[in-house]
Formats: sequence, structure tokens, C-alpha cells
Amino acid sequence: MPAIARLRHLLPHLPRGAVTRFAPSPTGYLHLGHAHSALFAAALAGAAGGRFLLRLEDIDSTRCRPDYAAAIGEDLAWLGLAWEGPARVQSRHMPDYRQALDRLAARGLLYPCFCTRADIQREVAAAGHAPHGPDGPLYPGTCRRLSAAARVDRLAAGEPYALRLDMAAAMAAAPPGLSFHELGEGRLRCDPAQFGDVVLARKDVPASYHLCVTHDDALQGVTLVTRGADLKPATHLHRLLQALLGWPEPAYAHHPLLLGPDGRRLAKRDNAPTLRALREAGRSPAEVRALAGW
Ligand code: GLU
Repeated sequence: MPAIARLRHLLPHLPRGAVTRFAPSPTGYLHLGHAHSALFAAALAGAAGGRFLLRLEDIDSTRCRPDYAAAIGEDLAWLGLAWEGPARVQSRHMPDYRQALDRLAARGLLYPCFCTRADIQREVAAAGHAPHGPDGPLYPGTCRRLSAAARVDRLAAGEPYALRLDMAAAMAAAPPGLSFHELGEGRLRCDPAQFGDVVLARKDVPASYHLCVTHDDALQGVTLVTRGADLKPATHLHRLLQALLGWPEPAYAHHPLLLGPDGRRLAKRDNAPTLRALREAGRSPAEVRALAGW
């Protein structure tokens, strides 16, 4: 369905005054897929008489670069988008995410995981089967089963650790029958357990995408989360975190991913044309909006 037809289809379901956001990670220059997503978020906010916000999801200092971050604002403005207020830059707010983790930890819902990738692979291979979740093979639970004494010893020894959500405990602590409202589809039942004991704070970055995105959507007052359909499974987990942390529930509108001429999704690794390259090649913003499906 063309983007404009999709927008029309969603209009009757649109919450009035919806607050949307575009939340890219500055790991490269924005490409047409990003433009599609940003235009979708802005169009829904515009149609709802609401507000459109911008957020830079740059907690992963190993992959994000300041020059890419700076380029995001420039490229979006060139495309003709205007967002309200300054963009929230996640890396400047790490203590906020720490606080959210502390709240989960205080309820016994997190545990430290010392496993390396190799440890997990070995464990999964030994088990002979590897159930998969949306983020990859499910964690086999090795560190959940550590004794309290072993945990204390390893923490005291300064071993690096991630923090994982104890999914069974989290599900028990959350209200039953969690669901989310997908615009145009109605209420969909959540199955957060498909993620297993998901990492909420990494070894190298003391937070995670899932934690920060739900925290910030709540903090920024986002009432309609728009993003690509590739992130629809993540919504199951995000609703669980919202329920555990007492954050409000936004509505969701996941859009199909923009496909390249070969029918494959546009991604940075496939050298999707960047907005920058198109601009330098003399394309106008209107032409690029059309290439992005708008
Ligand atoms: N930062 C995420 C990405 O660039 C998107 C987050 C979201 O919209 O939920 O893929």
C-alpha cells in the first residue's frame, strides 16, 4: 500500500493530538528507509494535530559517531521536517537509565550475567537445541542459576557483567494479559517471554535499546510510537517494561519497510542511497521524499 494510502487507512484510528517521534541511531548517514520512517512519524503527528519529536539513540559508543549525529538534524531539516524542541540525546542521560534499572533490581527482576558470547554458544550447543527469540538465540539461564555466594564473589572480583531481566519473575510481577494497540489492527496480545532473559544493561554499555526506548517514550510523552515493522516484535517486550515500571502505554503504528529495487529491505550495509548522497547528486527534497515513498 503506498504511504499516503496507508496514512488515510490509519486516519480514523489516530489518537487526537498524537505525539510521535523519530529515533534513529547515528551509526551512519540517514538513508531512504530512514526518510520513509521520519516522514511517516511526522505525517501522523501532523494529521493528528499533534507533535513530532526527535531523539538520537546513541548509547552504543562503539557504533555511533558524533558526525553522523550532527548530520541527522541537517538531513531531516533539508528534507523539510521540523521537530519540536531540542532532540533528546540518549548518551547524555545515562543516569536516567541507571535509575530505571535500579527500580527493577530492587524488585529482584534483574540478575548479573558474566557469560561471554562464547560461553553462551557453548552452553546452547551442549543443550542440543537453541530456541530463538526476536534478538537471537535465547539465553540458557546459566547465570540465573548461580548461587548468591558465587555472584558476590564474581562481582567482588570485578568480573564484567551484563544485567538480564529474569523473564519468569518479570511475567509473574506484571499484570496478566498484556496487549498493545496497533493502529488499524486493534489490540494485539503480548508475548514478552519470546525474548527470554533479555539483556537490559550490556557489559560495554550500561543500558540497552529496549530499556532506553521505553524510558524515553514515557519521558518525552510519546503517545504514538511509529517505526518499521522489523521492530514490531520488540513491542511485546516494551509493553512488559512499561507495565513493570509504571510508564504510560502509547499506541503503536509499525510501517512496512521500504524496499529497494531488488525487493530487499534498504539497510546501511546494503549501501542504500543516503540522503546526503542524493542531495549532493542534485536531487531536490521533493524528489527525495518521493523516492522515500512520500
Ligand atoms: N533507534 C532504533 C533504530 O534506529 C529505532 C528505535 C525505535 O523507533 O523504537 O533502529
